[in-house]
Amino acid sequence: MERLYGKVLKIMKNLIDLHVHTNRSFDSDELLERHCKRAEELGLAAFAITDHCDVNYQSLSEGRAIVYGSLADTERLRGNYKVELLSGVELGEPLEDPAYAEEILGLGQYDVVLGSVHNLPGMEDFYFMDCSSCDLQPLLEAYFIELIRLAEWGKCDVITHITYPLRYIEGKYRRQVDFPLYTGLIDQLFKTMIAKGLALEVNASGLRQEIGKPLPDERFLTRYYQLGGRKLTFGSDAHRASDLGSGIAQCREMARDLGFTEEQLFRKRKAFPRPL
Ligand SMILES: [Zn+2]
Ligand SMILES: [Zn+2]
Repeated sequence: MERLYGKVLKIMKNLIDLHVHTNRSFDSDELLERHCKRAEELGLAAFAITDHCDVNYQSLSEGRAIVYGSLADTERLRGNYKVELLSGVELGEPLEDPAYAEEILGLGQYDVVLGSVHNLPGMEDFYFMDCSSCDLQPLLEAYFIELIRLAEWGKCDVITHITYPLRYIEGKYRRQVDFPLYTGLIDQLFKTMIAKGLALEVNASGLRQEIGKPLPDERFLTRYYQLGGRKLTFGSDAHRASDLGSGIAQCREMARDLGFTEEQLFRKRKAFPRPL
């Protein structure tokens, strides 16, 4: 067991994790200090604190409090640990209230801004939806259209977990998604992201959930590569310190196998490529 743990630590050395939640997020009670200690244990080079600010769930004053709290925590601990702390935010459903989203973007100097869609307009988070027998095609088409709108808006740096509904459809409900049905929309999404210079996140959380694969998986990454997409980031989406960096080494290996040669680190919202 100890040897295995040693091996895990070795492959985590020098990795970066651009998607991490703390107790400033509604669904995490983890202290940033604990993430920092874990990052040192793992030998991570950097990680980004990207607490949830969901414009459709939180009032603007709640959103401001989350962001100010998260930025202050990051600032307070920066320099106290060997790991580089990057400030960020996971902006959820920004197009449901673009003025709110823009105010959040102007609140501080972020290193990285993630853009996410967890639910369709007027509907609940896929986490709560019963997808056991629903008609998948209109749902997924609407989801990819929302992501295209998010990419067209273009005010985030990274688009996260673009197969979020699959976490439940393929994972929880064990229903297979017929990928070719959506290639037109997926191509449009990737082309828009490439044109806007946005990065695509490989979210490793799926590896520790029922779906058992990254979000997005190989099918999507292969297409992104074929269309000329090269800008990847990797994130564990950890909500507790024990998940920090989790699955990133496997996701990087998958990306390398598909031909990708670099990942992006963000500082002050500028991308810095690093070899994979
Ligand atoms: Zn998310
Ligand atoms: Zn997240």
